Amino acid sequence: MSEVFKLELNTPAYKGTVSFPTGLFIGGKFVEPIEKGKIEVVNPSNGKVITSVSAGTGKDVDIAVEAARKAYKTSWGLKVQGSVRGQMLLKLASLIEQNIDEFAALESLNVGKPFSVSKNGDVTNTVACLRYYGGWADKIQGKTIEFAYTRHEPYGVVGQIIPWNFPLSMISWKIGPALATGNCIILKPSEITPLTALKLASLVSEAGFPPGVVNIVNGYGNTVGQSIAEHPQISKVAFTGSTLTGRKIQEASAKSNLKVVTLELGGKSPHIIFDDADLEQAVKWAIRGIFSNGGQVCSAGSRIYVQEGIYDKFLEAFTEGAKHISKNTGDPFGEGVVHGPQVSSMQFDRIMTYIDSAKTDGATIHHGGERHGTEGYFVKPTIFTECKPGMKIVQEEIFGPCAAVIKFKTEEEVIEMANDTTYGLAAGVFTENAARGIRMVHALEAGSTFINCYNMLDKAVPFGGYKQSGIGRELGEYAIDMYTQVKAVHVNIGLRL
Ligand code: NAD
Repeated sequence: MSEVFKLELNTPAYKGTVSFPTGLFIGGKFVEPIEKGKIEVVNPSNGKVITSVSAGTGKDVDIAVEAARKAYKTSWGLKVQGSVRGQMLLKLASLIEQNIDEFAALESLNVGKPFSVSKNGDVTNTVACLRYYGGWADKIQGKTIEFAYTRHEPYGVVGQIIPWNFPLSMISWKIGPALATGNCIILKPSEITPLTALKLASLVSEAGFPPGVVNIVNGYGNTVGQSIAEHPQISKVAFTGSTLTGRKIQEASAKSNLKVVTLELGGKSPHIIFDDADLEQAVKWAIRGIFSNGGQVCSAGSRIYVQEGIYDKFLEAFTEGAKHISKNTGDPFGEGVVHGPQVSSMQFDRIMTYIDSAKTDGATIHHGGERHGTEGYFVKPTIFTECKPGMKIVQEEIFGPCAAVIKFKTEEEVIEMANDTTYGLAAGVFTENAARGIRMVHALEAGSTFINCYNMLDKAVPFGGYKQSGIGRELGEYAIDMYTQVKAVHVNIGLRL
């Protein structure tokens, strides 16, 4: 048995208790890790420890894999009809919805997102995503091809490793399609943000999932994460996180059992604004594109290319937007707050190092570029100008509220600059010329593209990267393909040898 942690919150946005079990969720129960490891979970708004939760090791992953294999053979996978799996996903979605405020409070406490964003964004989207895949569970079909047919079968036991920027909604992107298709799961949340994963685990049995179908093993990347990537009985691993870690996971998978690997990695996405754009809209979407979630969004529009004729006006209005965000920065549970802290001290330091590099490389800090307040990990929305293509702030993912605004002249020139990166996650174009908008997004090397908007996301639309931003797709029907393998069945209806 493991403990349940309870905390009373009395804030403008949320008044009430939040609670979650602190153990590992294995075989339908919360258990203590074999080596009794602990991780301190920190509130990024003030840097104080909230509590400690269990940290597993490879030994706990082994036990979870055994539980998952047993469940797959006896009570899941091909033994359970799709409609039954779908009902469980729908029930899980409803249970989360019934606790929407508590989930949102936990996400805000642990990640630093404004409460309204956690509630109306993260938790609401999680519920919608689980419902969407609940609907898919009984629609997984093969094809008939002359005298053969195909079956789309689950892999068996799949590993899932997620980051800290959207802890709960990343779980839904992972478990939704995996469970709809009949796989069993070993999921590792980020060690920095495990709280909503633990809360969700506490609802899994009530939703009807048999023991061992969903296992949530908290722990560090180089222990639990590495063990998942190396495990010979895990047939597929789905990872979201940095490109560096994605590479390690692919190596570990190749060296162990050649498990199927899908990766959602980093980005340095261009957002291109032409002279003929609707300026007001372009500014609003650019602000949302880079400053939402403190810039901790893999598809953030962090390189903003603005055509010379509109550059000055854009920069003025964009800067006004950044000032507005600066004024409404603060505790995620405060009234009217739109910008919270970065997730951790490590992330805060990383962003500050990039801001220093901008100064040494000769860029101008047009706005922000410093800490907000005296405690917690707050960074002011930051705008760099006078940026040159080779600068670190133009090439590397900062993962913070930092935009490089760059002037351009022609369509050809901006396509060249926009594609000059190892990443290829997202790209946006603002223009009133429809033909140019379409021509541009076809020329841009990115998995998600946007015309006259930015960072639109829908559970039914695939998401994933070109180049070193990833392998495979999440969301939509594409994710169903990523969690099934195709079996061809040849049927002899008369051929005799
Ligand atoms: P990270 O790569 O450090 O960690 C991600 C996860 O991997 C964590 O759970 C971590 O514990 C685990 N991990 C770390 N080392 C591991 C190892 N050796 N083996 C197995 N697992 C390991 O990334 P992060 O700092 O948590 O997240 C930020 C990064 O994630 C950014 O680069 C961002 O762009 C990317 N990201 C991408 C997407 C996307 O969908 N493309 C979404 C969110 C975040």
